[in-house]
Amino acid sequence: MSPSFIEYGSECNFPIQNLPYGVFSTASNGKQRIGVAIGDMILDLSQIKDLFNGPILSECNDVFTEETLNSFMALGRPAWKEARATIQRLLSADEPTLRDNADLRERALVLQSDATMHLPASIGDYTDFFSSKYHATNTGTMFRGPENALQPNWKHLPVAYHGRASSVVISGTPVRRPCGQTKPDDKPPAFTFCKLMDFELEMAFFVGPGNKLGEPIPVGSAHEHIFGMVLMNDWSARDIQKWEYVPLGPFLGKNFATTLSPWIVTIDALEPFIVANNQQDPVPLPYLRHDDPFNFDINISAAIKGAGMEQPAVVSQSNFKHMYWTMKQQLAHHTVTGCNAQPGDLMGSGTLSGPTPDSYGCMLELCWKGTKEVDLGNGNIRKFLKDGDTVILSGFCQGEGYRVGFGECVGTITPAMSQ
Ligand code: CA
Repeated sequence: MSPSFIEYGSECNFPIQNLPYGVFSTASNGKQRIGVAIGDMILDLSQIKDLFNGPILSECNDVFTEETLNSFMALGRPAWKEARATIQRLLSADEPTLRDNADLRERALVLQSDATMHLPASIGDYTDFFSSKYHATNTGTMFRGPENALQPNWKHLPVAYHGRASSVVISGTPVRRPCGQTKPDDKPPAFTFCKLMDFELEMAFFVGPGNKLGEPIPVGSAHEHIFGMVLMNDWSARDIQKWEYVPLGPFLGKNFATTLSPWIVTIDALEPFIVANNQQDPVPLPYLRHDDPFNFDINISAAIKGAGMEQPAVVSQSNFKHMYWTMKQQLAHHTVTGCNAQPGDLMGSGTLSGPTPDSYGCMLELCWKGTKEVDLGNGNIRKFLKDGDTVILSGFCQGEGYRVGFGECVGTITPAMSQ
């Protein structure tokens, strides 16, 4: 692939092989607009929409003047491929259209450091799966013992809960410690601030074209409905969750905030990093079966920076490839009833814990339900999160001499409202 005329280092998250989509504004122009990250710049697609002159996008390049990506997501994979080819050509070192047009460059290229990022899509619905066997086994072991760690359904279907779309926020948004009803052991229920505040190291995908109500998405074509991926932190109030979750699953313990990284890395950019699916035993029912590999080698990590700490301390290093269920299976299962997915719907992976303790993706596992301390260095010890703690998720795929990166998903805990 031709390099870009925009320069960046080999560890840059956003080389020409990536080209993730986001929504941004600037101090001089408060309108939210669609951009693509390249190096430390953003290419403002609203400024170059007329250069999308392929057979599909020449008819509908107004999608790039909208304030969210939903309309572009709805166009589907042929349009996404056409857009990617056009953007890659315009940014390549041997293409003069943008490279040699100082006026256009001035209008269309914005420094990321000058931009404010916004949610990339209007999210109608948000669902969070539970698809790492290690995470499901660890939490099951803690609460039910090793004999019954996985519930009987877990290997037969991708378990999930319907989350809360209205409290999905963009990276950098402060997260207020929630209050709620908890029940300490051997005491009556009480209303208190959350004492067991946690993060969850996750990724999520955005739905592209949806399906009509009553018409499921077959697993064989589910990839046509998956636009791209972000990092996601599913903030969790473990004490609220513990008391409320039986029998209908997470509710208030999860509904106060979910943080996303701002750049959506497309499946096209991730294709070089596809790895074999994890073996599934028992073989799933036919509506969940697919043979093509749709698992991805994405290095992910979580770090915590306490209020007084100079540097964040990495507490987890894991990988998206630990998913037992693929995103295709998740989407096929979600819609098998005829439930209609829509462009911009968000589907979380579940906590992406790996097999070893240094890859566990939440404090609940890292401190093993409060029985161990997590050492952040220089005398900073945690079991769960304190006020002022900043949690930083990051992720990237390592290519030969380049990275396809996700950037960061960041949130800082602020104190609970006084009761
Ligand atoms: Ca979760």
